[in-house]
Amino acid sequence: MTAHEILKTYYGYDSFRPLQEEIIRHVVGGGDALVLMPTGGGKSLCYQIPALMLDGTALVVSPLISLMKDQVDALKSNGICAEALNSSNDSITDADICQRISHGEVKILYLSPERLAIEKDWLQQNVNISLIAIDEAHCISQWGHDFRPEYTQLGEIHEAFPSSPVLALTATADKTTKIDILKQLKLRNPRIFISSFDRPNLSLDVRRLLTAKDRLSIIKNTILRHRGESGIIYCLSRKATQQLADKLRESGFSVGVYHAGMTAQQRTQVQEDFINDRIDVICATIAFGMGIDKSNVRFVIHNNLPKSIESFYQEIGRGGRDGLNTETILFYNLQDLITLKKFAEESNQKDINLEKLKRMEEYAEALVCRRRILLNYFGETSDCQCGNCDVCKNPPQRFDGTVIVQKALSAIRRTGQQIGMWATIDILRGNTNAAIMSKGYNSLKTFGVGRDIPAREWHDYLLQMLQMGYIEIAYDEDMHLKVTTLGDDVLYGRKQADLAVIVHEDKRTSRKKEVHPQLFNLVQGEDAELFEKLRVLRRTIADEINKPAYIVLSDKTLHALAQSRPTTLDDFGEISGIGQYKKDTLGERFTALIREHLSKLG
Ligand code: ADP
Ligand code: ZN
Repeated sequence: MTAHEILKTYYGYDSFRPLQEEIIRHVVGGGDALVLMPTGGGKSLCYQIPALMLDGTALVVSPLISLMKDQVDALKSNGICAEALNSSNDSITDADICQRISHGEVKILYLSPERLAIEKDWLQQNVNISLIAIDEAHCISQWGHDFRPEYTQLGEIHEAFPSSPVLALTATADKTTKIDILKQLKLRNPRIFISSFDRPNLSLDVRRLLTAKDRLSIIKNTILRHRGESGIIYCLSRKATQQLADKLRESGFSVGVYHAGMTAQQRTQVQEDFINDRIDVICATIAFGMGIDKSNVRFVIHNNLPKSIESFYQEIGRGGRDGLNTETILFYNLQDLITLKKFAEESNQKDINLEKLKRMEEYAEALVCRRRILLNYFGETSDCQCGNCDVCKNPPQRFDGTVIVQKALSAIRRTGQQIGMWATIDILRGNTNAAIMSKGYNSLKTFGVGRDIPAREWHDYLLQMLQMGYIEIAYDEDMHLKVTTLGDDVLYGRKQADLAVIVHEDKRTSRKKEVHPQLFNLVQGEDAELFEKLRVLRRTIADEINKPAYIVLSDKTLHALAQSRPTTLDDFGEISGIGQYKKDTLGERFTALIREHLSKLG
């Protein structure tokens, strides 16, 4: 079969995504390659299709059992003979798999680098290895964020299997890691394929300076908009994951917690529950995610600012792998910035970490399209207006805020620059609390001059002032605010200060509220009631075969079914994502359901 025929017959897709076909041709021709594609970009097909075209068995090295399991399940659900050798198998299963491998029945074999080292001699002697794919190839590099010492053994892979092409794949785009992968794996004249890192189906939204209460209400609304769908909420600390989860559970949401302080068994359980839709939402530290291939995560929220754009992009990348619309929200406040700055200051790569944080901060503060900033960060020069980020949707407006800025600067100066953020706000607002009274700040000339502006807006303006360089935070002096020379220019009337108009949450969300929760991803002409019925049937089948629902059919395919409403097997087989095997195994039940639904409609 040709690559196209395999794509259609096994996967049910009509066309390749950018680069897939070229990569397949290169590998089938025996060449080594490094593939850089974002999560959800379609890397797996790049080695799976060559594996089906070539004689023998393809080896796929993967770092985690959960990832192997997911891939093997997905391949089997398309009628492709794939297996995994790993420590979760019992010895009888392993023996059976090995026997089938030696009979040439297994087309794709997943295994960990440790296991490959053990099986190497046996494989060399008994098996025709068609190609070797190294998934999550950045794990070989100490520069990457997931270094795994076991991966270093892969440097000898060509010596062990000199006639098999090696294909390294990763979603990590950074340049140092890329060069290191090539070097460590000793690839032979590799071609490097880099696809765009844009993920247009992920919306980007930054919400600034909200109180904990406001954040909680936004989180709850987001979960409600995605009732019955999956989402991840990242928090900075273990304690914070637990607290947030407790609050959400009080409101009746189905929520799990994941962090590195839990036992391995607890973590596996939570992960399994999430993958199998027994838990909708996970509150997690960044420890969560590496083993998650779940394709239908519909929202990712950062309850705290991430420490770098790389981590941020990787974390939101866990959403929307199936290509459907997915929401991402980042909460941004000064406290997080201060905490992270402190971490960075104290780390042993201080300069690099501070720089990375600075870029993250610039992203959160940006007044231009946020996607543009991300793409530029990853080296794709872009001047897009994506239309799917908060800046594009609500372009910021500016006004002459000189008087506001002067009031704040004057308050800071009059205390001898001995106050932090909150005391500044107290003075401006004329709050008579103990701390203010004990210092006599209530008799300052600026006391109460900013009563007309609510505290949370002052908070926002002070952050803007920080960003524009009118003030700085003295990290070594109790976080006191200091007026800069640029600030003095404004204070003494030499310069005008423009501020961005603060957009209130209620105004922002009003548009979204009109969307019916379940209808978030409905395509044109789709039958919402039928979608629900199809979803229930998918769940039933998933439970019968004990696999995650998205392995049975992806959300995207389910939406396409609800739109096209095929009633015959042939029409069913034409839907994107349905290959021959799914047509044969699922077609009867799904078309029967659709026929019944249509007959009720009359
Ligand atoms: P990655 O490994 O790069 O994260 P996957 O290989 O898991 O991405 O692919 C992500 C999703 O895109 C999967 O659901 C896959 O079936 C789908 N996909 C891949 N290639 C195509 C294609 N050519 N047409 C339609 N869907 C595709
Ligand atoms: Zn945009």
